[in-house]
Amino acid sequence: MRVAVVGAGSIGLAVAWRAALRGAEVAVHDPEPGSGASRVAAGMIAPVTEAHYGEEALTPFMAASADAWPGFARELAAATGLDVGFRDVPTLVAAVEDGDRAEIDRQSDLYRATARAVERLTPRAARKVEPLLSHRVRAAVLAPQDRAVDPRAVHSALLAAVEVAGVELRRETVADLRDLDADQVVLAAGCGSAALGDLPVRPVRGAVLRLRAVGDQPLPRTTVRGFVKGHPIYIVTRDGGEVVVGATSDERGHDRRTGTAGAVHDLLRRSIELVPEIAEYHLAEVSVGFRPGTPDNLPLIGRLDHRTLAATGHYRNGIALIPATADAVADLLAGEERPDLAPFDPLRFKRTAAPRETPPVGPAPAASGHRPDSNRVAENAAPQRVAPSAPDPSADHARERPAPSIPTEPAAEEARP
Ligand SMILES: Cc1cc2nc3c(=O)[nH]c(=O)nc-3n(C[C@H](O)[C@H](O)[C@H](O)COP(=O)(O)OP(=O)(O)OC[C@H]3O[C@@H](n4cnc5c(N)ncnc54)[C@H](O)[C@@H]3O)c2cc1C
Repeated sequence: MRVAVVGAGSIGLAVAWRAALRGAEVAVHDPEPGSGASRVAAGMIAPVTEAHYGEEALTPFMAASADAWPGFARELAAATGLDVGFRDVPTLVAAVEDGDRAEIDRQSDLYRATARAVERLTPRAARKVEPLLSHRVRAAVLAPQDRAVDPRAVHSALLAAVEVAGVELRRETVADLRDLDADQVVLAAGCGSAALGDLPVRPVRGAVLRLRAVGDQPLPRTTVRGFVKGHPIYIVTRDGGEVVVGATSDERGHDRRTGTAGAVHDLLRRSIELVPEIAEYHLAEVSVGFRPGTPDNLPLIGRLDHRTLAATGHYRNGIALIPATADAVADLLAGEERPDLAPFDPLRFKRTAAPRETPPVGPAPAASGHRPDSNRVAENAAPQRVAPSAPDPSADHARERPAPSIPTEPAAEEARP
């Protein structure tokens, strides 16, 4: 079977790798592999501390993916000789003021509903787990199974893995899925999936800071998350001394430059309140990316038609969901049933909005020259492209898009992965 994957972010590459390992002849199309969200992300694998009200349908898939990560990281390392920076350290969520303490109480109930390990800690116990925590911390919760990985190392390893597996990488923009010469097409173009697949994927802008400890400066042992005066914040540490502080979240356009000064100010101020040592580090990079968001914050994984599958819309959990998504899509390509993917049906919004116009679902007899409407780029619309991940103002040419019709995210900046 010949499979064309559109998008060489971490989702597309992982799908390509898994499909190739199962014997498919795979080509990945992307003019600039890694230019999307995958190399901006912080890398939290957080089925507990990323639980949100209204997103309960994601919990089992997140849990399965988190549990698959250690093996997936080992397999990648074995295939490529590259380490992906998987850190088996717990996540600590801390609050600084009374209002934030109430937020921790609220979150604890949600965390417990995931049925994974959650432990309430006194401030003193929390500082034993994380000695760099501020003495002003009033309450804390430990999520021992929420871990982290280095998304840039993951993306580099996936690029190497697909090469080893014989996948062809074509550095080209796909303007129309019908042009692809393949038996099966997987649409994994992040925010670019909206135009290519007529899917409700919208870009949710986010900024993260990358800092570096200098010399023998101490580093956080854990992933530290928290609430500072009502604002969420996270601090993810890598083994090599990099510390990622994130993240903002807004839907005020495609420009990577506007608002970065405020983002640096807010992210530093809040992270220093939780971990004062942050102020001593070197600020190495400010990066901005676009999370591929959907109206209900759940991904789009499944069939669009007999020839096309979607693997996109992973919003703020696309790194955590790499292993589960890759295996799910490989199963679907192999013709296996995956009823557990029902909540992620990529046609669910069309069904709700216009039941009488719903296109046929599932495998159908292939008609030569058949060109499914759902994959047609809107007339006069340029292929949707996400801007490059590096903060490169000259390359920032992406178009403004209208606000989503069913907004589920607050417009204000928030710390989100
Ligand atoms: C600030 C920030 C922090 C985050 N932190 C976390 C985190 O801690 N944990 C977590 O799990 N997730 C996190 N995420 C979310 C995660 O980064 C995304 O969900 C994930 O990277 C999506 O991967 P992807 O491969 O689907 O898309 P992308 O990485 O965006 O890749 C899409 C690719 O498609 C290509 N493309 C687009 N259009 C076309 C076309 N027409 N033809 C060919 N190619 C095309 C692009 O060039 C790009 O390379 C974060 C995101 C942001 C922005």
